[in-house]
Amino acid sequence: MLIPQHIPYQSIQHPLFQEKGIELTVKRLDLVHGDVSGNKFFKLQYNLQEAIAQGYSRILTFGGAYSNHIHATAAACHLVGLESIGIIRGEQSSPLNPTLRFAQEKGMQLHYWDRSKYRNKQRPEMLQELLDAFGDVYIVPEGGTNALAIKGTAEILTSEDKQFSHIFTAIGTGGTFAGLVSSLQSHQKLLGVSALKGDFMVKEIDELIQKHKIKFQGSCDILLDYHFGGYAKWNHELLDLIREFKKSYGLPLDPVYTGKMMAAVLGEVKKGTIPTGSKILAVQTGGLQGVKGFEDRIGVSLG
Ligand SMILES: *Cc1c(COP(=O)(O)O)cnc(C)c1O
Repeated sequence: MLIPQHIPYQSIQHPLFQEKGIELTVKRLDLVHGDVSGNKFFKLQYNLQEAIAQGYSRILTFGGAYSNHIHATAAACHLVGLESIGIIRGEQSSPLNPTLRFAQEKGMQLHYWDRSKYRNKQRPEMLQELLDAFGDVYIVPEGGTNALAIKGTAEILTSEDKQFSHIFTAIGTGGTFAGLVSSLQSHQKLLGVSALKGDFMVKEIDELIQKHKIKFQGSCDILLDYHFGGYAKWNHELLDLIREFKKSYGLPLDPVYTGKMMAAVLGEVKKGTIPTGSKILAVQTGGLQGVKGFEDRIGVSLG
């Protein structure tokens, strides 16, 4: 699982940006690998390397039924020859949704925990239960954020990206934001778009930065107004934006993270918080595996 030398960029010729004298470029992490897509590739690579180096043969992790992290972990473990176990929140559905079907096809062993048990998964007695049930497993937390994940996401920005003044990314657990912030240049500003409702994210990111002793140049901010009602919530304006970017620019976005990130790019440019002459880099962090499940669940097409 090697990071490709060159990740594709896509320039977006949108009338709003032309009018404001701002450039928009997208970094297509969704294209880093066919099965291990987006930021999850960066978050997993050093974890799997470490697991192998320590002699583990199985990875255990957690996620919801449509989780990009579950999908990517199953595929990555399959690629490098590790067994994988997924603890899934909620009840098993039949037939399996596309995310879990894929994970199972990649050899992931799926176990379902009801919501109250799942909520307590960090407790020491739960950890013991896992070790008793599954033996010696390398545990990757839900969403995949830990020190090695941040080491990986610190490699998303490369020297080519020095030209950009503003960088936008979606936030779930903040591991991607933390890696990006650690690799900023002094003239750059990172804008993280929370996919979750509530201002708790500001504190969480702060704690993550302190815990991992991240020092950074440049500046950063967290945008809390583009969650569209909360995690995995949506409205027709969001779906229209996703369809428009697909149709007009050939850029695929997902409704949980990258669509909201792009709504924030447009929203901030419209509001005038991004000065004329700025060069924006929007990170397409992936998540496209979830689109089919979303369309099936909601009964819509995203084009
Ligand atoms: C998981 C995910 C995120 C959030 O990443 P964090 O490191 O948890 O903040 C953003 N975008 C996509 C597409 C994801 O799958």
